[in-house]
Amino acid sequence: MLKKRVLSGMRPTGKLHLGHLVGALKNWVDLQSKYDCFFMVADWHAFMSEYENPYNLRNNAYDNVIDWISCGIDPEKSVIFIQSEVKEHLDLFMIFSCLTPLGWLERCPTYKEQLREVKGRDLNSYGFLGYPVLQAADILIYKAEKVPVGEDQLPHLELTREIARRFNGIYKKDIFPEAEGILTQTPRLLGLDGRKMSKSYNNTIDLSDDADQVKKKVSTMITDAKRIKLSDKGHPDVCSVFSYYETFVPDKKEEVRDWCINAKLGCTDCKKELAQEIMKVLAPIHEKRKDLLKDENKLRKILDIGKDRARDIAVKTRAEIKDLIKI
Ligand code: SF4
Repeated sequence: MLKKRVLSGMRPTGKLHLGHLVGALKNWVDLQSKYDCFFMVADWHAFMSEYENPYNLRNNAYDNVIDWISCGIDPEKSVIFIQSEVKEHLDLFMIFSCLTPLGWLERCPTYKEQLREVKGRDLNSYGFLGYPVLQAADILIYKAEKVPVGEDQLPHLELTREIARRFNGIYKKDIFPEAEGILTQTPRLLGLDGRKMSKSYNNTIDLSDDADQVKKKVSTMITDAKRIKLSDKGHPDVCSVFSYYETFVPDKKEEVRDWCINAKLGCTDCKKELAQEIMKVLAPIHEKRKDLLKDENKLRKILDIGKDRARDIAVKTRAEIKDLIKI
């Protein structure tokens, strides 16, 4: 039986961190065995917010793909490509832009939220309003039927379905499927400061951080503020350090709870231990990173193969559309 196609992507706005590993990459790795997966570096999406300073997007794209592969995304199984290298995305974006009513975009909750929350960038642009239209083009140019989404992304996916219906309705042909979400439980990893882990908060542990960087960063993590002296009994459930044990070393969490609530170990040692555990998670990723970094051609070859495999399908979809709309 033919596997259903999945499309997912990441914006190359910086280095990937542990939040990406638990929030997306582990899930992508699992999807590979069940679906025909297309994983895209969404550099045009990144450009929409980074247009004033886009100069690192290409290097970030390469570094992100190195992390993907190092975390288990297999280029033999999945199609890995850079969005801007498959021009058909923009063709379809243009076509969809013409038939998408403005009101659909203006009411999109994530658009309003981003305008409110993203500081230091002017997102009041024509392109940024069309962000979900480009997403629809990304998904539908491959006729992907499944899209992994967090709950906050559901309105965007609904818009993709509405755009597919509208296109099929106007041109009276069922060209595009209505993509369904694969609702993913994305455990929210706290950053070093207790807020959501995010590059914009400068509170990340990056997948490429070495042992010294990890140790230093973990030493700054927020713990139970009421545990001041070594003899104070702690409350692990309010401590970010403990939440990392739960996520990365679940087998050890009862032991750590015991250290904490019975004041058997101080926070400094508890953090040192955690830094070592995080390095155990990162060590195999670093090994593979080293391998890929050694040979720049290897990465470019993987991306060229991905581009060709993606284009094969995108070109066919574009030809079908040309048959219908005559341009
Ligand atoms: S002992 Fe560990 S779990 Fe308990 S408060 Fe300190 S750092 Fe957190």
